[in-house]
Amino acid sequence: MSSPIRTRFAPSPSGFLHVGGARTALFNYLYAKARGGQYVLRVEDTDQARSTRESERMILESLNWLGIVPDEGPDEGGPYGPYRQSERLDIYKKYTTKLLEEGLAYPCFCTEEELEQMQESSRKLGIPNIYDGRYANLPKEEAEARIKAGDPYSIRLRVGAEEVVVNDLVQGKVKFDSRLIGDFIIVKSDGFPTYNYAVVIDDNEMKISHVIRGVGHLSNTPRQILIHRALGLDLPQYAHISEIVGTDKKKLSKRRGATSILFFRDLGYLPEAFNNYMALLGWYPEDGAEFMSSADLKRKFDVARCSKSPSMFDFFLTDKGGDAEDAKPEGMTLDELKKAINKKTKLNWLNNKYIRAADLDEIWPEAARFLSRDKELADAVKKDPDKMRKIFSEVRIYLDTFDDAAPFYRELLKQKIALEPGEAAEVLALPEAKPVIEAFKQIVKETRPTTPEGFSEAMKQAGVQTGAKGRALFMTIRVAATGSMTGLELPNLFAILGPDQVLSRISQVAG
Ligand code: GLU
Repeated sequence: MSSPIRTRFAPSPSGFLHVGGARTALFNYLYAKARGGQYVLRVEDTDQARSTRESERMILESLNWLGIVPDEGPDEGGPYGPYRQSERLDIYKKYTTKLLEEGLAYPCFCTEEELEQMQESSRKLGIPNIYDGRYANLPKEEAEARIKAGDPYSIRLRVGAEEVVVNDLVQGKVKFDSRLIGDFIIVKSDGFPTYNYAVVIDDNEMKISHVIRGVGHLSNTPRQILIHRALGLDLPQYAHISEIVGTDKKKLSKRRGATSILFFRDLGYLPEAFNNYMALLGWYPEDGAEFMSSADLKRKFDVARCSKSPSMFDFFLTDKGGDAEDAKPEGMTLDELKKAINKKTKLNWLNNKYIRAADLDEIWPEAARFLSRDKELADAVKKDPDKMRKIFSEVRIYLDTFDDAAPFYRELLKQKIALEPGEAAEVLALPEAKPVIEAFKQIVKETRPTTPEGFSEAMKQAGVQTGAKGRALFMTIRVAATGSMTGLELPNLFAILGPDQVLSRISQVAG
């Protein structure tokens, strides 16, 4: 019987979880679920200087929001714990003792300065910086004496001259020459294992069958394979998934989606829609479907169908938001950010489909939570939740995110539709306004449209009958029906109001 599929996501808690990491987590999760396996979460916090508990907390919160819940992990526990590397130092030590005893690894007493000098001279010569092996053959007794005397040291793996082949489920066969790697550090002078070393031991101890991670780690893989060989361990199956780039085809920047996953939660995306969107970043199901439920994803996902070419994250801030290319979304208020986001994205298209298709009872509480960010709407939700829910059932087809709902409510709940003074009043005072309004009213009375398309057509016909075009047509109708120059897309608003309300509003504003 073949061994069970076990995957893992192994974040380093030194920052936010953004879309790159979240997609890696999702692919590992889906791959395990699609094959009846287990998905493990391991926190890789051996970089003492950069790891923080706060970052770990945010990463876990992001994963929880997405519903990427592990079968084993720091909070869940499990048979192969602990699941935080800083709590596994004793385990690494056992392996290191074995490697040292077998002469497959050795202590290196190079100082920082020595290492820097080596790096500098390689740089000058234009050659790769490969360790020159100066402590590779230090007699054992001498090394022991120096350790006893308290000299700082790291531990290096002895690397011979061999070809290392990575058989990758996504990238295919990739060959590396170990001579370009040289003897490398597996235990740092602070006693902590390096990433490459800990990862190999943990993947093995945790019985990980598939390592799915970003292609940026492909260059680490030969080192990991060399460690596997030295320890006599079986290799997992590797799958290095393609890079995610921004709409400018470059590495994600702050203006192009390299922000915390929690941001997307706060902007009103549904976790299911976000997962669906992420799943399509580099993977395409056999049947070509794009809109997939969580259950579909769990059933269909196959890492072997992932593409090698970079995938594009089409979330970006338009030029209206922020200034410099690398403007920090953190520096922007949520409102500024919302205004600056490009609306015509696949993520929005998918989120809208989810909002439309979801069970109303399931999503209404979340929608109500978003509405309640506005004081007046919060009161309205408390006072008449049924009415507010009913409105939501009508407006939801127009929403890309939950956050788009509030303007609809503000418009629909207006007690009185009054003509705003200034520009709006001027628009209605123009001589060509009256015929447009009369024509539109007449058409609405006769055709009684109920859909956005029907109202678009009615507006167009009013234009045909009166000769009014563009602003003279649409702005006139907008002001006549809302009293204001700005607001929701008219066909959508009209469809929700229905013909009678549209006519009654026009009579309130324009007589
Ligand atoms: N801790 C590594 C990272 O966050 C994990 C790499 C791996 O999956 O092996 O990039």
